This record gives sequence, C-alpha cells and structure tokens, in this order.
Amino acid sequence: MAPEEFIFRSKLPDIPIPTHLPLHSYCFQNLSQFQHRPCLIDGDTGQTFTYAEVDLSARRIAAGLHRLGIRQGDVVMLLLRNCPQFALALLGISHRGAVVTTANPFYTAPELAKQATATKTKLIITQAAYVEKVKSFADSNEVMVMCIDSPQHDGVLEFSRLTNADEREAPGVKINPDDVVALPFSSGTSGLPKGVMISHKNLVTTVAQLVDGENPHQYTHSEDVLLCVLPMFHIYALNSILLCGIRAGAAVLILHKFEITWVLEVIEKYKVTVASFVPPIVLALVKSGEAQRYDLSSIRAVITGAAPLGRDLQEALEARLPHATFGQILIPPSFFFISLFIFGIFFTMNSNKSTHHRIYPNLFFKPISHFNQTLLHVYAFALFFALFNHGYGMTEAGPLTISMAFAKEPTKVKSGACGTVVRNAEMKIVDTETGASLPRNQPGEICIRGTKVMKGYLNDPEATERTIDKEGWLHTGDIGYMDDDDELFIVDRLKELIKYKGFQVAPAELESLLISHPNISDAAVVGMKDEAAGEVPVAFVVRSNGSKITEDEIKQYISQQVVFYKRISKVFFTESIPKAASGKILRKELTAKLNQGLMVM
Ligand code: AMP
Repeated sequence: MAPEEFIFRSKLPDIPIPTHLPLHSYCFQNLSQFQHRPCLIDGDTGQTFTYAEVDLSARRIAAGLHRLGIRQGDVVMLLLRNCPQFALALLGISHRGAVVTTANPFYTAPELAKQATATKTKLIITQAAYVEKVKSFADSNEVMVMCIDSPQHDGVLEFSRLTNADEREAPGVKINPDDVVALPFSSGTSGLPKGVMISHKNLVTTVAQLVDGENPHQYTHSEDVLLCVLPMFHIYALNSILLCGIRAGAAVLILHKFEITWVLEVIEKYKVTVASFVPPIVLALVKSGEAQRYDLSSIRAVITGAAPLGRDLQEALEARLPHATFGQILIPPSFFFISLFIFGIFFTMNSNKSTHHRIYPNLFFKPISHFNQTLLHVYAFALFFALFNHGYGMTEAGPLTISMAFAKEPTKVKSGACGTVVRNAEMKIVDTETGASLPRNQPGEICIRGTKVMKGYLNDPEATERTIDKEGWLHTGDIGYMDDDDELFIVDRLKELIKYKGFQVAPAELESLLISHPNISDAAVVGMKDEAAGEVPVAFVVRSNGSKITEDEIKQYISQQVVFYKRISKVFFTESIPKAASGKILRKELTAKLNQGLMVM
C-alpha cells in the first residue's frame, strides 16, 4: 500500500486563472474599468501615468523593440533603479514576446557581464549613471545599450525610440503560456546564481493567487495606493507590488530609494494604503523617531516578505514602544474595535501573568490615565499587527504563502507564522532523509507544486532536476512545519543561501572568487546573524603555503568584484575546511562553530 501523502492547500477554494493569457493581456484585462485612474506614480517627480497611458506605452515599446530588431524570445536586460519606465519596459517586452532579465544596478561590471552573457542579452535598458559599467561589455558583444535619461555616451540609444514608436507597428505575436517572460537570477538551493525561467503562465498564476477572485486576502484592490520602495528588479516587488497593483487597478507609487523621512513624507502625501517592506526597513521604521511626525493613518496594511521577520525585530519593537507616542498612528474604525477586542484578551492574559506579559512591560506600568493607557495598548496592537504580518516566497515560485492580519476568516494568521498556502497550489513538508511527506507539526523541507512553479533554470537541467522532482514538486531548501491550523512556520534553512536585507548572496559565488586568489588554497562562506542585515557573509579561509594574506586584503579583493551586500564581513583563518567524502562543504559545522563563538579572529 502506498504511504499516506500529507498535502496542504489553501482553506479558500481554487479560482479560475486565465493562464492562457500572456502577462500584459492579463494585467490589462480589466482596463476599461479604470483606464483613467492613476496606474504608476513617480514618487520622486510626481509624474503620473494613467492605465490608458501605460497600456499605450507598452504597445509603443513593443513596436519600438520590433524596429530595433528585438525578436520574440530575445532577452532585454533592465538595469534600472525603481522608476515608471521599468514597468513600461516590462510590459512592452512582454507585448513583444521577448524576455526580461532584471539586474541590480549596483552590480559590478563583471557581475553584469556574467548575467548578460548567460542570458544572451540583446539590449540593456539602463540609466546614464550605469552606462559606464556595461559599455565595454556591450561594445565587445554587440549588445545595444539604451538610456531612459540623457544618454551622454556615443552609440547609446534614447528610450524615446521605444516610447515614440507607432503602436500600430507592434507585431502580432503568438505567445504560448509556457513561453519565458522573465529571467531573474537566483542561486536556488545550491551553487551559483542561475537564470530562473519564469513563464507567462507562472507570473499570471502568482499574481492571480494574490488578487483575483473574491480577493478575500484584501491584498489590494482598485482603491489602493501601493508603496513600491523595494527594488523592482527583485521578484518580490515585481510580482507582489507592481504586477498585483496593476492587475487590481490600484495606483503604484514608485520610489527609487529608501530614505526614511522621504518614505514617510510620500506615505502621508499620497495616502498610501498598502506598504510592502522587508524586515530591515521595518527595523529602520521601528527604530526611527521620525514616524511620529507623519500622518500614516491611510495605511491599512503593512506586508513584509523576502526574509524572516525575526525575534530580534520583535525585541527592537519592544524597546521602541516605551518611548513611542502613538497619537499619530490613527487606525480605521473597524480595526480600532478589533484592536480593542484584542486588547481585552491581552489584558486578561496580562492579569493572569501569562508569558505575553513581557511584550509591552513598560506600557503597562506607565503612570498615565486609564483611558490613555487603553489607547496606548490599542495603538500598540495596531502597530504590532501591522508589522508582524508577513508572507513567504521564492523567486522560483513567487509567493508561497500569504498572511494578512486584516483579512477576514479564514485567512487570519498567527504572529510568527508565514501564513497559509496560496490558492491554486499544493504544499507538502518532506522528511529530508526519506523524502516522505510529513503530517502537521513535524518540520521538514517545504515543497510547493502548481502552475506558479518556474519552468526551470536556464541552461542548467541538472540544477532544475535537483530542484523540481519528477512529480512537479519544487524543493525550496527551507525547513518549516504546518501547525494545526495549516499555518506555516519556517524554522531553518537547509540550503546554502545567505540573505542580506532580503538580497541573495550565494556562498558558491564568493567561494569561487576566493579560491581564484593565488594566496588562498581553500575557502568556505556561510551566513552569520546580523541585527541590521539579517545575515552577512563570512569566510573561512585556508591560506596557501607561505602566504600571509590578511583579512583586509581578502575583503578588499572581494569587494572590488561584487555588489555591496555580497561583501565579506569577517574572515576566519583556518587549517582546513570541513568537507563530506563527496567534497561538499559541511556548512552546518562552520555555522555551529560561529554560533558557539568558537572562532577566534
Ligand atoms: P528569493 O528567491 O530571493 O525571494 O529568496 C527566497 C528565500 O528567502 C526563501 O527560500 C527563504 O529562504 C527566504 N525567505 C523568503 N521569505 C521568507 C520568510 N517570510 N521567512 C523566512 N525566510 C524567507
């Protein structure tokens, strides 16, 4: 008899998802309902594009790309900081049937060259500030470079060549739902960063799971103003803010960088209703005294993802609360009553000396009137629930779970949980040794299946096979368990990946750079916990015979070649790197040494 399979699904019924539609058609399927509404707002300049304008621009860009010689299936790299042109280009590329690969503008020239080579990029759309980095690679590989601002360099094309094209010249393209539309990079469970082949069907599914149907998650709707300060080159913002916002008919407020005062100012000015952050931004907000000076009452939801929102952050919030004044954090009336209700429960627990007592100790003992004390508790809970509301996702599959504290039953989730599985997907937790699926409350590797799962890694069938098994399950490399209410808790990471403020750092990439140094004979890189970044990469290095290479020299050698968040934070010299018989680095041993403080500098 076959063993019992434990498969978890959303408590909500599946919805019909129009996976036959190409991404751009799906995004604009409901265009007639909101064509005159703002779609993209440039928070830095105030420039606004309506839905009708965005649709027209996308068609013009498709025509312009065609004129430039970009064919169906060709790859265009977007090397842009957040800006409306990013969204216009993305939709135009989809229209053309081409593929977009997104890159971090802070990447070094060698990192960009690697990505452009791996993807056979034909055109790079960028900004004047980054042209220098791509020019020599582009010139020697006949890659076109285009600037959205003043080109300043010979041979660099102007973006207006796309946006001023005649939309009637956009060629009719037959797009298959399995055609690749996006190629973000991710190291997955092991090895070097790889191109993740995301098809039209994959993206349509991941967006629909969050916003289509009855939208019980209240993730976003057409009245919303979504703050987009997270980088659009990362799948989290691209999928969960930009595309979800457009599909829902909301306004997407785009900021090119995170600067706390500016973010607070625009939240107030544009009456942002949904703010998506990563935990380090939450940390900055929690720690900054600035928040109290602004009216943030328009925010109905704060969503976090891309990295765990850890206990450290909870503690930072605890430390922050005694000094906070919550008078300016106004909350919607329904939420006010919910909070009052929760406060009632909390107060009861508190009087019973429950463990929850330690959460806001100073608030309870402040010498203030009973009324103000109650208000403080209500605001504390408002903030607590707004902040501790997060989902879990992965480039290879988009969002895996959703967690909205504001949603109606049955989608409410507990603090600390990542939420429940999204609709139209299956999740299972497997024993890492036997591969057998596990029942509730037993930790194992989280696996997901459905039309949201990537097509595979670009030109890497072995890595694809290691990640997606024969039955279509994507193995995430994350360890978690499902509780009795089918809420997912993540407890560990099986894979090598290091996450610095939500950005991926692949140890294998840094290790290959380290061992390319003549004075280093072997090296291993692991993540070390860090309050501000979540994790930072640290290196264990075996010097070559007779070498006296120093920590600073190694750090400098690496930082010349990689983007800032991949820089090595500490170097530990060692005699050897622990390895299994297969040659695989035993990272857990190194991490354990770090955690036990056994490493001496
Ligand atoms: P990325 O592909 O860059 O989005 O990284 C995906 C990985 O980030 C996941 O496989 C997890 O290891 C981690 N991650 C994402 N969201 C969360 C979360 N809410 N809690 C814990 N880890 C997370």
